[in-house]
Amino acid sequence: MSLADHLAARIQAEGPIQVADYMAECLLHPKFGYYTTRDPLGAKGDFTTAPEISQMFGELAGLALAQAWIDQGSPAPFTLAELGPGRGTLMADLLRATRGVPGFHAAMQLRLVEASPALRGVQARTLEGYAPDWLDSVDALPDQPLFLVANEFFDALPIRQFIRTGGQWSEKRVGLTEGALRFGLAAPAPQPALEHRLADTSEGDLVEVCEAAAPVTQAIAARIAARGGAALIVDYGDWRALGDTLQALRAHEPADPLQNPGQADLTAHVDFEALALAAKTAGCAFTRLTPQGVFLERLGITDRARALAAALSGESLENLIAAHRRLTHPEEMGNLFKVLGLYPSEAAPPPGLNP
Ligand code: SAH
Repeated sequence: MSLADHLAARIQAEGPIQVADYMAECLLHPKFGYYTTRDPLGAKGDFTTAPEISQMFGELAGLALAQAWIDQGSPAPFTLAELGPGRGTLMADLLRATRGVPGFHAAMQLRLVEASPALRGVQARTLEGYAPDWLDSVDALPDQPLFLVANEFFDALPIRQFIRTGGQWSEKRVGLTEGALRFGLAAPAPQPALEHRLADTSEGDLVEVCEAAAPVTQAIAARIAARGGAALIVDYGDWRALGDTLQALRAHEPADPLQNPGQADLTAHVDFEALALAAKTAGCAFTRLTPQGVFLERLGITDRARALAAALSGESLENLIAAHRRLTHPEEMGNLFKVLGLYPSEAAPPPGLNP
């Protein structure tokens, strides 16, 4: 039995499935899922992320959250949370950088929202000595001030895809043709959740909807609005999604999303407008969507790089210079990745972000 067999059996029983169901099975099937069964990150894996590229990313994100905590009167106790912590690298860098912030570590309760047993194991090793608690969902976050970071978490949440057909929408589905997985289209139907997209799309355009993103954002935003805190949400995407952004990556190369299910990373661009609207519904303020490069420059990444460079030479110095460029340059991750901050409407926005 493989995930491909399981999917074929499911489609034979139920008919073609939503792209979201396909994505969820591929990423998180308990036995065959991509994240469930492996550590996919790093040079030997399938993709890399900002915290894996340089310690500067987690350090600066941590200092921004610690400053927001100080600005709000250093509430204690508070939850320090991360969604989808991967190898735990970002959190380890954040914790090291904030060691010198008086009272921060004493007041924090560390909570990691992670679905993958394999990655929970890696995180436990990386964060040895910090005794984090793992949660299955943001709903289990305690009712207290919440300072949270999520890097490349929302892009892993399943999306549905719709193609505009007349004034209606045909949903893209995954079915079987002669035993092989194939995309197909359901009959056009009205989609109340896509009413607003009739204004900015034309016939044949594809739009994506991530149904899981709003409830996750609302759960975080409700705690921040009621008890204080801040969230830094970093991902690729933009304000409102248009076009097919479903992407498979295997060994750092683009792959066919229907080939080798469960063996490749599957992601989609994040529709930050949907996150911002969910935060607003929960009574929480959100910042301007800010390019990652701009955010990191405002937080002083170049000074930090200079300080680190002073102790380096040769290849390690070259690596640091390349990492700084990769994180900030508009042609690398600097512009593709965006940062959205959430904060209580009566507080200042987190450092590096504007209202
Ligand atoms: N933030 C890390 C890893 C990004 S990969 C970094 O920047 O390096 C995506 C992470 O989200 C993985 O840890 C994955 O297991 C986790 N994840 C994906 N879907 C999830 C879900 N629905 N619930 C909880 N964790 C999830």
